[in-house]
Amino acid sequence: MAVNGPKEGKPRRVTILGSTGSIGGSTIDLLQREGDRCQVVALTAQTNVALLADQARRLRAECAVIGDGSLLPELRQRLAGSGIEAAGGAAAITEAASRPADWVMAAIVGAAGLEPTLAAVRQGRIVALANKESLVCAGALVMREAALHGATILPVDSEHNAIFQVFDFDAPDSIDRVILTASGGPFRTLSLGEMREVTPAQAIAHPVWSMGAKISVDSATLMNKGLELIEASFLFPVPEERIEILIHPQSVIHSMVSYVDGSVLAQLGTPDMRTPIAVTLAWPGRMATPAARLDLAAIARLTFEVPDSARFPALNLARQALQSGGAAPTILNAANEVAVDAFLKGRIGFLDITRIVEQTLARVEHVALTDLDAVHDADQAARRYARYLVEPTEDGRVVRVPTRGQGRH
Ligand code: NAD
Ligand code: MG
Repeated sequence: MAVNGPKEGKPRRVTILGSTGSIGGSTIDLLQREGDRCQVVALTAQTNVALLADQARRLRAECAVIGDGSLLPELRQRLAGSGIEAAGGAAAITEAASRPADWVMAAIVGAAGLEPTLAAVRQGRIVALANKESLVCAGALVMREAALHGATILPVDSEHNAIFQVFDFDAPDSIDRVILTASGGPFRTLSLGEMREVTPAQAIAHPVWSMGAKISVDSATLMNKGLELIEASFLFPVPEERIEILIHPQSVIHSMVSYVDGSVLAQLGTPDMRTPIAVTLAWPGRMATPAARLDLAAIARLTFEVPDSARFPALNLARQALQSGGAAPTILNAANEVAVDAFLKGRIGFLDITRIVEQTLARVEHVALTDLDAVHDADQAARRYARYLVEPTEDGRVVRVPTRGQGRH
């Protein structure tokens, strides 16, 4: 096992932003197997104070930060006598992200992860990036800061991690296409009429992957693949029109790179995020993980389909946002976060999610993104408009989005 450390013999200093989530938990699992080869600098979470305190004690972290500042007294109480520093609030998360560390896992969900991720990037070390929304809403800025500070961004998202493993960065001209695979989510075979009725519980029950609620809903609308298209365009030197999306329900091939000579290189594995996380943790080496081994004979069949953009309009919305450039991806992301939250709270229907994104993209100005303030302004403008769309009207029920005509369903 070769986790690359900063100096021979010294433990590697690591931080996890979003340690209580699905990716955070998988990262903790791997770190626990590393024992004293890693020293945990900081763990952060938003509300799950009990789990955060438990993780901080188990991993003997130097500090634990809870984003919801009102929970800081409870965190302090739970850490009493441990010698672990406790802090609370969004600014404290960003401060923790900027503490010297050799490897930072950026696994906060949503645009809320942008500033802590940027703080980690500015340290100029390794950032394992799961928080795709930070690249979607400010990709050019994040990549510019990474180059400026000499940081290495290693993608955790399974598709991008797969591409990273088979992409010849020394010969980008030899690459013909990048093929992002998608499981198709739980509603792959449903009609539009059936999709209109689905509940949040059905949407978060992903057929293959076990993930946080927001990304599970994104997988059901295929907005996740739209966000990943944008993410890929910032991570890899390939133009948008050369990034294809292919439905592959078994999720065995995590993505592919097609070369000009006709070769197609793919990365395969079982659906366990500990594998891509381990790739970033051991990079440029490899480390063992307990992920189940791939048994292709047992799986027997791998199938593929072209995505249906009529039932899953999120794909085209994301592609259009990427083509528009500027703040369009930021607006798409912010509107989607508001709409997914409203859907999870039972305030809007499943098909309303992409309608809200479409309307917000049409109404909020696609300004140029010159700096972080411009990103923040575009994000806030989109959230305001999307929130207006999901506000209950006088009859207390209808979403303020024109329903598509019967003919389009
Ligand atoms: P999750 O909901 O399980 O966990 C999110 C984490 O972020 C939690 O620790 C939570 O406390 C923290 N958090 C939430 N809101 C916050 C806020 N406002 N400020 C600070 N911290 C906050 O999510 P997840 O499934 O682990 O996903 C995390 C990120 O990784 C997302 O961007 C997701 O798209 C990406 N990702 C996840 C998977 C997966 O398998 N779960 C796969 C690929 C990419
Ligand atoms: Mg993914």
